[in-house]
Amino acid sequence: MAPQNIVILGGGVGGTLTANLLARKLTRKQATITVIDRTGRHAYQTGWLYVPFGGAPPEKLERSERRLLHRMVELVVGEVARIDAQGHVIEMVGGEWLPYDYLVVATGAQLVPDVIPGFAEGAYHFYSAEAALRLHAALREFKGGKIIVGAAGLPYKCPQAPLEFAFLLDDYLRKQGMRDLSQIVYTYPLESVYPSEGVSDFAAPLLAERCIATELNFTPAAVDPQLRKLTATNGRSLEYDLLVMVPPHRGAAVIVASGLGDGQGWIATDRETLQSKQYDNVYALGDAADVPVNKSGAAAHFEAHVVANGWLHRFAVSNRPISTMVR
Ligand SMILES: Cc1cc2nc3c(=O)[nH]c(=O)nc-3n(C[C@H](O)[C@H](O)[C@H](O)COP(=O)(O)OP(=O)(O)OC[C@H]3O[C@@H](n4cnc5c(N)ncnc54)[C@H](O)[C@@H]3O)c2cc1C
Repeated sequence: MAPQNIVILGGGVGGTLTANLLARKLTRKQATITVIDRTGRHAYQTGWLYVPFGGAPPEKLERSERRLLHRMVELVVGEVARIDAQGHVIEMVGGEWLPYDYLVVATGAQLVPDVIPGFAEGAYHFYSAEAALRLHAALREFKGGKIIVGAAGLPYKCPQAPLEFAFLLDDYLRKQGMRDLSQIVYTYPLESVYPSEGVSDFAAPLLAERCIATELNFTPAAVDPQLRKLTATNGRSLEYDLLVMVPPHRGAAVIVASGLGDGQGWIATDRETLQSKQYDNVYALGDAADVPVNKSGAAAHFEAHVVANGWLHRFAVSNRPISTMVR
């Protein structure tokens, strides 16, 4: 029997781990495993949170994807333009076509600042290496005033990140001797400071203790960079000297272009098996999937085990036994 052709889109947390878990259990006679990634560089995104405060620079937070992958896994560096899920084929930018028997989609999320007028010009953030460096420069220039920290909308990856940023900022301003010259306001789209009650109940008193004001039920609708004014969908507005806001998120552009996502580009995914609800030879995990868990590296990590074990079980049932599950 010809080897099964498994293609994994995305060399982030979910894609890299799934590829390696499968490679540890399969031989080249059983399967070919290919990861396609646009840069071939694996970024430790959590580290971007610390860049604005002078933490490790982005180049220190990256690794060669090739070096992270099991030797059996082939890496293709390039941009996927479209997935033809009915034809079982991937179209690359540049026109090359790559067929698959099984597809694992781990394309993460894309940032879409443009859905909020003025956001791209008026707001800083730390959700990419470049943006984190820009914010680092802005903080170095900051001489006191009002800083708004918040999230533009849900869902977004790493839900705790704006809270963490607010606390780190408080600490940073104290160390710079600027806390008395500054106000920090934390805005959030929900009635609470975090989506889950436990974290919210824990974090809200800490914010108060640090004199970080909160504006809840606050979903940004527009930024006026000239007037330095942030307006919410309910008409409330806040003036600022520095705006630090997690940008709106959507599913990856390729998912939207391939018609595989919902209105926001998240893939309809079975929460038990992580198979696409549309195509049973397609799996989705990590930020790309619409399953009701945090979009986080931790979730992607555990989901990779579900995808790999699910696929190995399926393969064992339909073909030949495979020794054990991956751990
Ligand atoms: C500031 C910050 C702090 C965070 N902190 C934490 C934390 O403390 N704990 C935690 O668990 N998580 C944290 N996260 C979230 C975590 O990084 C993500 O949830 C995780 O990386 C998701 O994994 P993924 O595999 O789904 O997507 P990603 O790791 O984002 O990987 C997606 C990959 O797909 C590739 N790709 C997308 N489209 C294409 C295409 N068309 N062609 C080719 N390649 C493509 C991308 O280049 C990328 O390599 C943080 C994120 C940020 C931004």
